[in-house]
Amino acid sequence: LPVLAVVGRPNVGKSALINRILGRREAVVQDTPGVTRDRVTYRAEWVDRSFTLVDTGGWEPDARGINASVAAQAEVAVDLADAVLFVVDAMVGATSTDEHVVRMLRASNKPVILVANKVDDARQEPEAAVLWSLGLGEPWPVSALHGRGVADLLDHVLTVLPEISAVAKQEVGGPRRVAILGRPNVGKSSLLNKAVGEERVVVNEMAGTTRDPVDEQVEIAGKVWRFIDTAGIRRRMNLAQGADFYASLRTSAALEKAEVAIVVLDVSEVISEQDVRIIDLVLESGRALVLAFNKWDMLDDDRRRYLEREIEQDLAHVAWAPRVNISARTGRHLEKLVPALELALQSWDTRIPTGKFNALVAELAAEHPHPVRSGKQPRILFGTQAAIRPPTFVLFTTGFLDPGYRRFITRRLREIFGFEGSPINVNMRVRE
Ligand code: GDP
Repeated sequence: LPVLAVVGRPNVGKSALINRILGRREAVVQDTPGVTRDRVTYRAEWVDRSFTLVDTGGWEPDARGINASVAAQAEVAVDLADAVLFVVDAMVGATSTDEHVVRMLRASNKPVILVANKVDDARQEPEAAVLWSLGLGEPWPVSALHGRGVADLLDHVLTVLPEISAVAKQEVGGPRRVAILGRPNVGKSSLLNKAVGEERVVVNEMAGTTRDPVDEQVEIAGKVWRFIDTAGIRRRMNLAQGADFYASLRTSAALEKAEVAIVVLDVSEVISEQDVRIIDLVLESGRALVLAFNKWDMLDDDRRRYLEREIEQDLAHVAWAPRVNISARTGRHLEKLVPALELALQSWDTRIPTGKFNALVAELAAEHPHPVRSGKQPRILFGTQAAIRPPTFVLFTTGFLDPGYRRFITRRLREIFGFEGSPINVNMRVRE
């Protein structure tokens, strides 16, 4: 899906606008200093189109750090989005921070739409018109709170936003797209330099495609891979506040463009909540997953025993992901990453023919019938694989299946087909 990022200073109404675009009825989330939101990407729909909305407003700096953090928002937006909504408070007018960001946005070639927010009625429209001076073209006057002007704005967004993400379009049948993820200091840039840096960076792109400077195309063992957002991995942001949010923003945005993620973990430290959160972001995105346990050179026997226990406890839900034990420092087992990526992508692309799938479902139902619930036994009438990337199955049933029963089906599908490295979904439709 194409990616639309929402950027702007604190308190200009980014959250209200996002809620409005998503059609959410819940109370507007305030731009509260220091608040980190769980999610930064949302699926939005307008008319007959879908796109991904990136909410960059999850952290708000103190007055001192404002330029740095708004610039960081804009940087992510420019690097990873297909278009940007730049929100200004029309009642305040353009501040020097706004002007600073505008210079950045204009230097990019991404389409930028200027939103003049808090224009609650027509009498205030002249305030919005003043924002022509920012040089971003026509300001779109809206009231995110009341919804005024938002429909027109979204109509305009659809004319600017590409049908599908630029990267996805270039890449149909092209190099597979890999995101290297992980918390700070696990060794992402070391890995990139070791595995990627030593190989030839492919400079000649296919005719008619523009090279995206935040990604790198690299040939490894005769095959070209596209590593997503290598600029973000190499770049060190000096943010006093909001570094975590900045990192998760980049992670989420990179996942939008990637097909498979390598989540790098540092075996010299305990598996942390942050590691698990990054893995959960991958699961939520539906991308394929490979786990790279880095700094293996630092592992002693004691730590190794703990690590095994941690993996059992904290990573049981991704036991299906290929695991590679590497050292970015010594180069140990780096060559095992490519087959792991290939395996994960192959699983992610798998399509099970409907006949075979139905025969299997019938077998499973015979092997382990659904328990009878209030005198009724839901039956599975028919099943089919509705989608790949990741494999997504739909079961048509005569009644609701117990969650436990769905887990049984999912587990057996994995046992039979493997799907190493790919999440799978099993959905249910009840036929009346
Ligand atoms: P990033 O923040 O995830 O990109 O992490 P870096 O690549 O900058 O690595 C953080 C620190 O860990 C640096 O001091 C690296 O030299 C070190 N490091 C990275 N990989 C390894 C490894 O395999 N073994 C050891 N011993 N140190 C490593």
